[in-house]
Amino acid sequence: GMTIDFGKKTTPASTVYRVQVVVVTGGNRGLGVSITEALAQANATVAIIYRSAKDAEEVADRLSKKWNQTIKAYQCDVADSAKVRSTFDQIEKDLGEITKVVANSGISVVKPALELTKEDFDFVYGVNVFGVFNTAQAAAALWTKRNQPGSIVVISSMSDTIYNSPITQAFYNSSKGAVSNLTRCLAAEWAPHKIRVNNVNPGFIETDQTMHMDPELRSNQCKEVPLGRFSKPWEQAGQVVYLLSDYSSYQTGSSVYIDGGYLIW
Ligand code: NDP
Repeated sequence: GMTIDFGKKTTPASTVYRVQVVVVTGGNRGLGVSITEALAQANATVAIIYRSAKDAEEVADRLSKKWNQTIKAYQCDVADSAKVRSTFDQIEKDLGEITKVVANSGISVVKPALELTKEDFDFVYGVNVFGVFNTAQAAAALWTKRNQPGSIVVISSMSDTIYNSPITQAFYNSSKGAVSNLTRCLAAEWAPHKIRVNNVNPGFIETDQTMHMDPELRSNQCKEVPLGRFSKPWEQAGQVVYLLSDYSSYQTGSSVYIDGGYLIW
């Protein structure tokens, strides 16, 4: 009969919960905080990248004490490639070799399409597409130089596929379509280097972005979700840890939708 050879490793768990150095962009608030906390619980050292938050270092200190792990914040605009590379170098000097990366930073401009401008385009695509590219490329450059495998998770959105009426954010939605495709391109090009790239596509999450929504709009949106509610940020974070871990070692170029069933309807 068929035998399954797990080699010398007993289970992937023996490597999942090994200390890793993980970069989380936008790890100082929203979904990023939950991802940072989930990683810290899985025994990781975390480098948080933020753009302009005044409290990012306090957040890092608080999470560090809470989970008894090294967690440090770094100011860096992910749209600036040179700054991303120099920040990755600094992180490695401070914390050791980066082993995993989560490209989570993302922004939106909500306007009717007739009012969108070139500046809006550069802003949204600069973070959501080029920023993700810069983050992934900086990691892959380090890993290929050292011949080291790696895993990158890109936070896209269910709006890479669906139009989330009535929120008019054409640049946001299309940037998520672009970044999901980018994920597959990078996954294909870097598979020979044993670098995996996957994306997580959240549905509605309870974060600053969505809690500032008009309550009536929010409750209407809930009716569109088979599970009838928005997700808590931690309901997305477990999937991110899984995709960074060796449990997912055969998975690359995939999009995992965590949307309470939104795409069923
Ligand atoms: P938040 O608006 O709560 O936080 C955004 C984060 O990104 C902040 O940490 C911010 O840093 C950081 N950031 C923004 N611009 C830059 C930049 N140029 N360089 C570096 N960091 C930057 O976002 P959410 O937690 O809601 O979203 C996280 C991800 O999840 C995004 O990619 C978003 O598109 C996606 N998503 C969110 C959904 C939701 O319902 N909230 C649904 C589907 C997907 P700072 O604090 O310094 O500004």
